Amino acid sequence: MKVKKVFGVIGLGRFGSNVAKLLAEAGAEVIACDINEERVKAISDLVSKAFILDATDEKALRESGIANVDVAIVSIGENIEASILIVVQLLELDVKEIIAKAATSIHGKILEKLGATRVIYPERDMAIRLAHSLLIGGFIEEIPFAEDYSIFEIKVPSYFINKSLKDLDLRKKYKITVLAIKRGDNVIINPPAEEKFMENDVLLILGKAERILKL
Ligand code: ATP
Repeated sequence: MKVKKVFGVIGLGRFGSNVAKLLAEAGAEVIACDINEERVKAISDLVSKAFILDATDEKALRESGIANVDVAIVSIGENIEASILIVVQLLELDVKEIIAKAATSIHGKILEKLGATRVIYPERDMAIRLAHSLLIGGFIEEIPFAEDYSIFEIKVPSYFINKSLKDLDLRKKYKITVLAIKRGDNVIINPPAEEKFMENDVLLILGKAERILKL
């Protein structure tokens, strides 16, 4: 039988409280905490348990049960010192999966070096996505894939129409790869070099955003 994961959300600013709320709404067990009474009160009816505590305090983490969660989400951006101390405490307490939010790249680097399982940069990532959606013609969706690389879903650029991958030489010229073409109800995966683009095609392409901007 699959055992349900227990999540601990530390720091109930906008990001943390939304994560806690969404996890709880999906039926997950969530232990939430914040040093600020108002923020804890605001979420206490929605999650399994909510505590007012200073999460830099190891004893408080143990007593609240946060030391025993499967996944801890540390969502503190402004107080970098607190965020770092809390990640250290969680590591000391042997929490296996620690996801920590970083406000700046140096903050993120420190969290990574300490041993956080995953460091997230929601504000930076959202800003990048917004800029790309405004700059890339026909932008539909972006899935970040690796450092600097993303998979983009875009409407076919007009000058692609009636040209093949071979004619356009995208891989050499722009270092981008067309992974798939959606044409009506059909999906052409890994399209052959001779495949010609048609009006209303939707493309799935992999590459660096800066190169896709040049298309
Ligand atoms: P937002 O998610 O709203 O953008 P943010 O990432 O800037 O916010 P902060 O404003 O830093 O986050 O607040 C995160 C929350 O963490 C606040 O509610 C704050 O009270 C809480 N917090 C800060 N230090 C501690 C601590 N030592 N223990 C528990 N909670 C803390």
